[in-house]
Amino acid sequence: MIKDESVAKIIDESQQGSTLAMEKDEKNTRKLYIESYGCQMNFSDSEIVASILANEGFNTTQILEEADLVLVNTCSIREKAEQTVRKRLEKFNAVKKTNPGMKVGVLGCMAERLKSKFLEEEKIVDMVVGPDAYKDLPNLIQEIDEGRNAVNVILSKDETYGDVAPVRLNSNGVTAFVSITRGCDNMCTFCVVPFTRGRERSRDPQSILEEVNDLWERGFREITLLGQNVDSYLWYGGGLKKDFEKASEMQKAISVNFSKLLELVAQAQPKMRIRFSTSNPQDMTLDVIETMAKYENICKYIHLPVQSGSNRILKAMNRLHTREEYFELIDNIKKIIPDCAISQDMITGFPTEIEEDHQDTLSLMEYVKYDFGFMFAYSERPGTLAERKMEDDVPEETKKRRLTEIIDAQQRHSHYRTQEHLGRTEEVLIEGTSKKSDDHWMGRNSQNTVVVFPKEHYKVGDFVNVKINECTSATLIGEAIEYSKNNSY
Ligand code: SAM
Repeated sequence: MIKDESVAKIIDESQQGSTLAMEKDEKNTRKLYIESYGCQMNFSDSEIVASILANEGFNTTQILEEADLVLVNTCSIREKAEQTVRKRLEKFNAVKKTNPGMKVGVLGCMAERLKSKFLEEEKIVDMVVGPDAYKDLPNLIQEIDEGRNAVNVILSKDETYGDVAPVRLNSNGVTAFVSITRGCDNMCTFCVVPFTRGRERSRDPQSILEEVNDLWERGFREITLLGQNVDSYLWYGGGLKKDFEKASEMQKAISVNFSKLLELVAQAQPKMRIRFSTSNPQDMTLDVIETMAKYENICKYIHLPVQSGSNRILKAMNRLHTREEYFELIDNIKKIIPDCAISQDMITGFPTEIEEDHQDTLSLMEYVKYDFGFMFAYSERPGTLAERKMEDDVPEETKKRRLTEIIDAQQRHSHYRTQEHLGRTEEVLIEGTSKKSDDHWMGRNSQNTVVVFPKEHYKVGDFVNVKINECTSATLIGEAIEYSKNNSY
């Protein structure tokens, strides 16, 4: 994976394992320490968990040693992610020896995958809670307070946490994530998500709009609509996506799909920037791209993972599109939104991948010239179809060499793309101080590229027109010209 701060919005490496803190409520007396790993969905879920526990008497702390309850929100997507969590559990074990009253709970995908095995394997764990069971936390905490271990890993058909107002943890006060779907029905053969997060269900659009309106009132200026596969968002009064066929005519008539949801959100807050992630090529339809083109406040950026450029490997991965269909989609995006940025996820060394397949991936990348990329070596995950039916037969050093080659290609393409911005004046939303210089702001343009520029009199949350003078492969460097028209509200 590229270690580059500007691409790291979806799986933010710098955030991995960060502790999350919210404002203290004076009434609350117990201390919660919560650490999150993995995709943005997990970080978003931790905000739901903190909100539920704030009503149970918990304030958050960033000091592990003083915590009454330690929660780790886990990721199972690759083996390495699980190893990181196991290491953290060893650390918690050491702290527990000096603070025997401390309880430890495991949340998220690893909890779902390992279930009660966790309690047997990791003796220090008191509580195991899957991604659909967070509303049961008050009961589970009572169980562990009374000295019993507690487990709830039941996956739900309808839980979307639409009625829980997440508390924003470690927020910059400007950008926020809003979850719109949970689970995934795609069954990519490499992926553990359908097993750890369950079937796909969509959240009531009314509760999404209420959350977005509330964020705007509180000063937030950009939201990212989140889901494993946002394009397959479908609300028809509740229920699983797969059961839509059985819905009544009335339900079908009032149903809301993703492009309609985007439009509703864009109209509700015309000055709020709107992003979304993740799109799946097989589910992304032209009406979504047309809606993006129609509304200025929908950012011109699509994260469109392809995973491989080889038709044979795409088929083996159960990605339900071909290389040619992917090109057609890219061409349509560029035709309808010429300045749209596109990013990818790619896996090297999927079972049976030969050099020719790898070359297909490189040539696909050459065609698209992605703005950013998230690239991984294949990691076999227990229970997935690939693990059950295919041998993990690409040697580790071959996977790594191919990974280096695609990362190098991506770096070249990223630089090609950042150079396209030179000399332009682009609207930037200021998110905070640049990591490299206290005198510079850091923000993003519509295409999600990081822009840094001297602070002058501007402040966090301002929309500013910035003239782009220089670039690296990851960052645009410029100077502010004026407030953008979006800044007046
Ligand atoms: N739902 C999105 C999709 O279908 O493209 C993203 C799912 S996942 C949270 C993020 C990325 O992790 C995937 O796009 C894929 O590139 C990578 N990934 C998933 N399973 C993997 C595995 N077994 N080995 C290596 N990378 C994996």
